[in-house]
Amino acid sequence: MVPVRDDLRRLEGYHSAQVAAETRLNANESPYPPPDRWSADLAVALADVDWRRYPDRAATELRSAIAAWHGVSPDNVFAANGSNEVLQTMLLTYAGSGRAVITFEPTYQLHSHLARTSGATVVEVERNDDFSLDVEAAETSMTSVRPTVTFLCSPNNPTGMVESPATVRRLLGAVPGLLVIDEAYAQFAGWTALDLVAEDQPLAVVRTFSKTWSMAAVRLGYVVGPTWLVADLDRVVLPYHLDAVKQVAGRLALEHVAEMDERVKLVVAERERLTDELGALPVDVFPSGANFVLFRPHGRAGHGVWQGLVERGVLVRDCSRWARLDDCLRVTVGTPDEDDRFLEALRAVLGTVAT
Ligand code: PMP
Repeated sequence: MVPVRDDLRRLEGYHSAQVAAETRLNANESPYPPPDRWSADLAVALADVDWRRYPDRAATELRSAIAAWHGVSPDNVFAANGSNEVLQTMLLTYAGSGRAVITFEPTYQLHSHLARTSGATVVEVERNDDFSLDVEAAETSMTSVRPTVTFLCSPNNPTGMVESPATVRRLLGAVPGLLVIDEAYAQFAGWTALDLVAEDQPLAVVRTFSKTWSMAAVRLGYVVGPTWLVADLDRVVLPYHLDAVKQVAGRLALEHVAEMDERVKLVVAERERLTDELGALPVDVFPSGANFVLFRPHGRAGHGVWQGLVERGVLVRDCSRWARLDDCLRVTVGTPDEDDRFLEALRAVLGTVAT
């Protein structure tokens, strides 16, 4: 056996239960497939791929399409295999051994995980009890820790909370290194930090095709940031990391913005209904600006409720044993049908209807 790196020996991998279930509302995926026209265009475009050649290393057309959509230059866009790889590349570039990274907990677990695998020290700053950001604690810790990377997830996974423009501006004014805003779910909320991206600001806004764009299987994400950041990331990432299929799939998706916006509207309306219906049950519900809702059953072990849902064919995310999230579960917004099945199962498990 080869010993694992000393600093990684106590690290646990990223876990998400892969349980077979008829209704899968555990991974914040889109409940709707991509538009038919996208699939048809993709099939045609794939016939033109020159398979024996390496793909365009700079992903020129894809980056241009993303840039045009956001009204920035292609030099402001770096794309990779899911936003997870974008996050990892930023950490390999700006974190690593001898450097510190700040996260505001509870938040997306991969931020601290990837920071640790880069060799960096992670300082977890606690949020308030209602999961809002403690801005003063954030400023104090940034001043004392001097992190090279600070993560802010908005809307935050798994709480759903959206940060205000004022909070983001305040953090940006105080951050000593790079401020990374993870906007995997921003299209489901009313506000984005993209407008704050500027050449003289240490701000990176990360997006994904996995949620809004119904393309989790493709594994495509990107960051919009200053040109110096994109140039730095290009130096670190593997050559030809973005395959030809992904490049064309992403570019073609951006020809269907209207259909994607329709999907977002449906999900947001359904999220509001789900939030209301949950509000009538014996659970605490956390208001969400994303495509999922966090809730905590009253007086019941969260894991037992999760298990009861699984037994009724419904899989949600079991956050009940995560730090600071005792007994909480997170449900992804599905189709109205899927959500009804979830609500019916939850009512049965909570004993609010006869089983
Ligand atoms: N950021 C956040 C906050 C997420 O919740 C997720 C997906 N769970 C990701 C990034 C990663 O998304 P992907 O790698 O599929 O782009």
